[in-house]
Amino acid sequence: MRAMIIGRWQPPHKGHIEVAKQILREVDELIVGIGSAQESHTLENPFTAGERVLMLTRALAAAGIDLSRVHLIPIPDVNNNAVWVSHVISLSPPFEIVYSGNPLVRRLFKEAGFKTKIQPMFKRKEYWGTEIRDRMIKGGRWEELVPKAVVKVMREIKAVERLKDLSKTDYLLR
Ligand code: ATP
Ligand code: MG
Repeated sequence: MRAMIIGRWQPPHKGHIEVAKQILREVDELIVGIGSAQESHTLENPFTAGERVLMLTRALAAAGIDLSRVHLIPIPDVNNNAVWVSHVISLSPPFEIVYSGNPLVRRLFKEAGFKTKIQPMFKRKEYWGTEIRDRMIKGGRWEELVPKAVVKVMREIKAVERLKDLSKTDYLLR
């Protein structure tokens, strides 16, 4: 059986890796859909799809996950919920089950006839993309919330510098 999990992975964190391990105990292969793939360099979506692929690949491998069981698929937004599932299907290897914490994602796939499942949340208050991006901007301790492999890629792409720049405004410049 092949399962799909979709997220924006901005960035991938330790909760995501736990979920991947857990799902791979239940199914043979996991498709990781990289949502909002066209987005980058915004506060919500600071990293490109390619950067997210790199972070995910490294972190999954470092967690001992056999990468031949994982497929990473960038999925750009279509901004049309009614056709979104067909769009995802058109870009992905075949799958039978969808794991998501997001109620809208579950609803859309359920209506299209897919089996859906909620995965458990791991330390959601900390292992949460929004919290990590916030700490990066404010100079807090974010490194402990993501796998070491992700810290390494973040350093390579100067992620903190990028986020801090993105959070600035030209309002008071003259
Ligand atoms: P953001 O705050 O940017 O939305 P996020 O942490 O929710 O970040 P997503 O990329 O939106 O990350 O999530 C991808 C998938 O991982 C979703 O199905 C989401 O419910 C799930 N997920 C997110 N955080 C955790 C966690 N701590 N434990 C388990 N699953 C998680
Ligand atoms: Mg989310």
